[in-house]
Amino acid sequence: MRTSVKTCGLCKENASVDSHFIPKATYRIVATKSKSNHPVLIKGNKIVKTSAQVRSYFLCKDCEGRLNDLGENHVFRYTYKKTGHFKLQKILKKLSPDFKSDSALVYSVNKISKIKIDHFVHFAAGIFWKASAGEWSFLKKTLKNHQLGNMYEEQLGKFLMGDSSFPENMAITMSVSNEREPIPIVIFPWHERRDGFFVHHFYIPGIEFILWAGNLIPKHFKETSISNPLGGAIFLGNSSITREAKEYSKAKLKERNH
Ligand SMILES: [Zn+2]
Repeated sequence: MRTSVKTCGLCKENASVDSHFIPKATYRIVATKSKSNHPVLIKGNKIVKTSAQVRSYFLCKDCEGRLNDLGENHVFRYTYKKTGHFKLQKILKKLSPDFKSDSALVYSVNKISKIKIDHFVHFAAGIFWKASAGEWSFLKKTLKNHQLGNMYEEQLGKFLMGDSSFPENMAITMSVSNEREPIPIVIFPWHERRDGFFVHHFYIPGIEFILWAGNLIPKHFKETSISNPLGGAIFLGNSSITREAKEYSKAKLKERNH
C-alpha cells in the first residue's frame, strides 16, 4: 500500500496517477533479457502469457494528456499492427528516397507531408525521458532508470513541457523497418557509451528511435535527425534490433515447446 502521494515527475505540481510506460495498453508485453542483456518487451501471448504492463505512479493526468496529445496518439497510428498494416512503411514506400545509404533508403522529412514529425520527436523524447526519470517495474522487477543523467533529463523535461526548444546537445534519429513482418514488440530503452557521447535506443513495433546525447555527436547524425529544426530524414531498412529480438523469441519458443 502506498502511504504518500507522489508528485508528478514532469510538471512537479500535481499528484501522480498510476500510469503505463506505453500508454496504448493494447500492447501485451513482457520484459525479459535478450542475449545482449537488453530488457525486451514482447507483445502477444506467444512467449509468456501475461497482460502485465510496465507501470508506475509517475505522471499526473495533465502531463499524461500532454504526452498523448503532442506525440503518442499520432505516432501509434503509424506503427506496425499486423501483416499488411503498417501505415508509415506504406507511406515511405510510395515515395522516392532522397538517397541510399549502405543499409537503408533515406527520405527527407520535409517531403513526407502525411505525418507530423514534431509529434514523433515529442513522443521519442517523452519515452527516453520517462524511462530515465521514472522508476518503472515489470513483473516485480525494477527496470533500469536514470540512464540519461541529471542534465539531459532536465533539458528533455523542459522540452516536453514546451518551455524550451529541442536541446542543442541531443539528436533523435528514426528508422522504419522495411520488413513485411517486423517483430511486434516494445523494447524498453537501453544505452551504450561511445567516444564523447551516449547512444540511447528504443523500439516500438516497426520503428526504432535513437537518442544521441553529448557535445561530440557527429554532425551527420544531427543533420539526419528528426529533431533537426530544418527537417531531417527518416531511414527505411532492416533493423539489427528486430533481427536480434526475432532470434531471441525463436529460441525462447523452442525452449517452451520442449
Ligand atoms: Zn504533471
